[in-house]
Amino acid sequence: MILSGINSNRLTQRLKELNKIGRLEGGGVSRPSLSNEDKKARDLLMQWTKELDLTVQVDQIGNMFCQWKGKTDKIIGVGSHLDTVPTGGDYDGALGVVAGLEVIQTLKEQHYQPNHTMVLANFTNEEGTRFTPDMMGSLASARPETLPELLKAISADDHKIVSEELNRIGYAGNVPCGSINFERFIELHIEQGPILENENIDIGIVEGVQAIQWRRLTIVGKSSHAGTTPIALRKDSFYAMSCLTNYARKLCESQNGLLITIGSIEIHPNVINVVPKKVIATIDLRHPDNSVAYQAMESLETFAKQDKSFNGLTSQWESLVDIKSIKFDQQVISSIKKSCDSLGYSNRPMISGAGHDAQLLSSRYASGMIFIPSRNGVSHAVDEFSSETQIEKGANVLLNTVVELDGE
Ligand SMILES: [Zn+2]
Repeated sequence: MILSGINSNRLTQRLKELNKIGRLEGGGVSRPSLSNEDKKARDLLMQWTKELDLTVQVDQIGNMFCQWKGKTDKIIGVGSHLDTVPTGGDYDGALGVVAGLEVIQTLKEQHYQPNHTMVLANFTNEEGTRFTPDMMGSLASARPETLPELLKAISADDHKIVSEELNRIGYAGNVPCGSINFERFIELHIEQGPILENENIDIGIVEGVQAIQWRRLTIVGKSSHAGTTPIALRKDSFYAMSCLTNYARKLCESQNGLLITIGSIEIHPNVINVVPKKVIATIDLRHPDNSVAYQAMESLETFAKQDKSFNGLTSQWESLVDIKSIKFDQQVISSIKKSCDSLGYSNRPMISGAGHDAQLLSSRYASGMIFIPSRNGVSHAVDEFSSETQIEKGANVLLNTVVELDGE
């Protein structure tokens, strides 16, 4: 069965309405997880699901599961996240939730009788900018034993605790994490990269997500006078960090697909005429293959032990995130492919460069992802953009994939 019936206009209007919440001057949105804006977005989703007669369950980490009962209790899940980074765009996360709702509404309007129970999910704290770790809600679903630790996480901006913030905004549910057992889960998302646009392709069929490792590196040397300390006697933490940065770039150039980013750095004392004593930097390292990612991180650590720029300095490596690369479910992948082909949309397989809820869910539930193009590959920025046509195509692929999987 080919359905191309999603209502593009309604989907766009809902996205617009949602993105009034946390609207930034000049465009873009800010809806940090468990903030007042996140609460308003959740309330709006609640209101929409009521109009569609869906039953909403909230679990202990605040994940929302909006159910449409099928003939059986087996569940097909769709969804994503409503939280954003502080200067986020209109589509990252929001698209997957609103399109999921649109798919359910379309099926209901067409008097479709699902075999499976359909569940639209909104996962808590996907972005991780307010609370670490990111993808918190999907992590709690996939590995409920992590819940007690996650509830204790403290916000970076105002030192609030997850459990208290959940209570404050009214989304501390009592459904046990991990009790909504998806037979299949599909997430529609923007690509957040340039590949689909560059190749002028409608749909990315995501086959997996690359490994992501985050480290915080603290290098401690010695402060000394810029004018009187000979170069050979310096314990310059920033110089060591620069050598490591240079080495990281060389590693990337010698290993296909390896991406290392040193994206934040603090220098102490940060004074023009003082050799810097301490540097605190973050390292983001990604590769589609776990073993390559581990080896690369190990090479960086070995460099810091052996290179002479680190002589007389101490370095401390703290692991912040360690997410293994994953492969998505073959049946979900082929259902997405079949849907694209039936609808006549150009498509290609791809690996996701960013982390997503579906990635964490995939350790427990058969999952998959659909990507649509992002203008200039921009995301996590106010000028994030995908056109109405691109969104419509993505949502129609989601619709058909759900129907395809429901028939199995
Ligand atoms: Zn996202």
